[in-house]
Amino acid sequence: MREAVASLAEKTGRGLLAIAAVLALCLLVAASAEAGPTSTRLAYAMGEIVPLPASVPHEEGDMVDKRIVADLRWIAARYPIYVTDGYSGPLPNGEHVGCNQCHVRGSDHYNGLAVDIVPLNGSGKCDETWSAITSLAEWAEPVQGEPAPPFRWVGYDGDAGHGCGNHLHLSWQHSTVAQFELAEWVEVFPTGPATNRKPRSPRPKSPPQKLPTGPPGGIGTIHSGGVSPRGD
Ligand SMILES: [Zn+2]
Repeated sequence: MREAVASLAEKTGRGLLAIAAVLALCLLVAASAEAGPTSTRLAYAMGEIVPLPASVPHEEGDMVDKRIVADLRWIAARYPIYVTDGYSGPLPNGEHVGCNQCHVRGSDHYNGLAVDIVPLNGSGKCDETWSAITSLAEWAEPVQGEPAPPFRWVGYDGDAGHGCGNHLHLSWQHSTVAQFELAEWVEVFPTGPATNRKPRSPRPKSPPQKLPTGPPGGIGTIHSGGVSPRGD
């Protein structure tokens, strides 16, 4: 009898362990599935406004800072997106690109570091064609008002003029920069095969804690300020 009890206790213990292991795995999967990129880095390479590649479906003529193209390619490979606007402003040759006068003051569109997104082959109404865009929005901003790095501002449900049936706005974090100029650095997520889907913790000792440069009161303070200007 004692043996049977011991064996039962052992079995129960093992069962609990198994349940705990499954729970831990679920948490890990949930975290990596919902909480934005696993790591980010600051890209100091010289920026340039370039056309979006065909691998990122977009409205004809759309351009962005080339330093976010790899991230957009990564996103487009996983979510059926269609970019309706990227950089908005003048080009060195004097031409104007992007939607004119349709973004707020200080918009990241004026630096080529924001895109407006709708579903590829969407209906224009908030229906099932938007479910993947909603997933993308939740990945980029798991908690309303708290975008996951490297995103600076995410406009979707809960933000006026954005959301299901309207559009998703994504901006990348960047150094303080004047309108129609290229930022010194842009925060991006690495997209190489070596960095895919690693467990999220422990978080690498990297930005945003030690964001370099930029005058006081710049972009680096916006996360904690609570008065984040919208980047749309
Ligand atoms: Zn926008």
